[in-house]
Amino acid sequence: MPQVELLTGENKWQNEDARVAALVATGILDTPPEPSYDAITRLAAEYFKADTVLLCFVDQSRVWIKSYWGEAVRELPRKDSIFDMMLAENGSVVVPDLTERPKFDGQRLMIRRLEVASFAAAPVRCADGKILGELVIFTCEPRGVMAADQLHMLESLADIAASQLELRRLRKAFHKRRVRRSHPISHSVTEIWPRRSDLRQALEEHQFVLYYQPEVELATRRVVGLEALIRWQHPERGLIPPMDFIPAAEETGLILPIGDWGLSEACNQIQQWCSEDPERGAPRVCVNLSARQFAREGLADHVEALLRQSGVSSRSLGLEMTESSLIPDPRTALEVLSSLRRLGISLLLDDFGTGYSSLNHLHSLPFDVLKIDRSFVMRMTEGEQPLQIVRTIVELARVLGMEVLAEGIETCDQYNLLRQLGCRLGQGYLFSKPVPAETISRMLRLPGRILPDPEAKIDGSNQKNS
Ligand code: C2E
Ligand code: MG
Ligand code: MG
Repeated sequence: MPQVELLTGENKWQNEDARVAALVATGILDTPPEPSYDAITRLAAEYFKADTVLLCFVDQSRVWIKSYWGEAVRELPRKDSIFDMMLAENGSVVVPDLTERPKFDGQRLMIRRLEVASFAAAPVRCADGKILGELVIFTCEPRGVMAADQLHMLESLADIAASQLELRRLRKAFHKRRVRRSHPISHSVTEIWPRRSDLRQALEEHQFVLYYQPEVELATRRVVGLEALIRWQHPERGLIPPMDFIPAAEETGLILPIGDWGLSEACNQIQQWCSEDPERGAPRVCVNLSARQFAREGLADHVEALLRQSGVSSRSLGLEMTESSLIPDPRTALEVLSSLRRLGISLLLDDFGTGYSSLNHLHSLPFDVLKIDRSFVMRMTEGEQPLQIVRTIVELARVLGMEVLAEGIETCDQYNLLRQLGCRLGQGYLFSKPVPAETISRMLRLPGRILPDPEAKIDGSNQKNS
């Protein structure tokens, strides 16, 4: 249990300039209170039955509250704040009973303002460990000693807030890179292709195919699901990846008939796998939905009709969507997701971290699985910081009661680290690239549907993967 000592020495101001500079660099101080952090304060309030929860970032003179639960507070003076206790401690502080500390002078303002009897605070740190802010829970009654796992929970929630800051920074970098990459292409002739008529013709001539990539339980490498990924088998150009035609399909509106084809093709394939193995049936097949498909009226009715026509159980179908498809109209998004959920379909949040990540939505939306974007998995062996992001996304999923699946696992190191972090599910080239349905049929006949050990594959003892 951290001991509370009010340090007043000069050394507590050491490195303060660097700390504030790191804080300013995040851009968090220039923004109004952010609803994207509300899920954290709300979760903390619910978990600890707290009366007030504050998520704050602190500069030289002020405590800026970015999200609160309970008492509405926007800012407080920095002088003698709980934050300074935390800096002095260089870690969490817990004061279970203020009445036993009548001379608790230093923290007067905050305490009196909120009329609280106990509090606990955990640090929000940046990449190199500097404390930028704090997550504080207050209660009006003395609450007694805080158990170690409770303190751990508070610290995990503060870490999630820190990841949220880091995700924001990465997202900015990601979008900047994307804009830079797409700029020259937009002026080249490649942008002209495919035209609407090419896509229409492809649909009519049945040139689209679905490939499938296994989703495995990391502990056992058992195939627990499949992601359906569309390809265009073009008569002259060969096999074309989705990113080369899905944007054009979205732009022209043809994504709707193409998406309908994909959904019904996936349902037929599920039926096919069920008939090949009536005892075990098919693993859950997940289909990607674009923003436009998601925004379409009557989506749930459409999916329900498809399931009925094909005789597929809703438990065998999953739908993947990205956060950006939910953002334009979060209220409708919630309604659509809820009605899909009522059908018994699994809902997966794709590419988590690259969109306009909003924990607030995440908390209220009924997703079953959170898919950690490949870019985070790729970087996780590069150092403590990316690893910490993956760790906190896993923790976040756990707190929100969701399954977590890591995308794009390519190396044994990533595989081993993810298992250590408690990530249960994964997919990636290490296990299998997306492959045609016939190859999946062969995989599903493996004993226990367990894929070969990738470490053995590296030894050269296994050549099986196509
Ligand atoms: P996604 O849904 O995030 O799919 C994962 C992508 O990562 C797939 O690319 C997959 O082949 C690739 N991938 C999986 N494991 C690894 C790995 O270990 N390393 C690397 N480097 N890549 C890996 P793909 O098939 O090119 O699909 C790209 C995107 O196109 C998908 O991203 C999805 O957003 C979209 N998409 C695919 N099929 C459909 C579809 O039927 N409808 C819609 N609307 N979008 C689709
Ligand atoms: Mg996907
Ligand atoms: Mg993805």
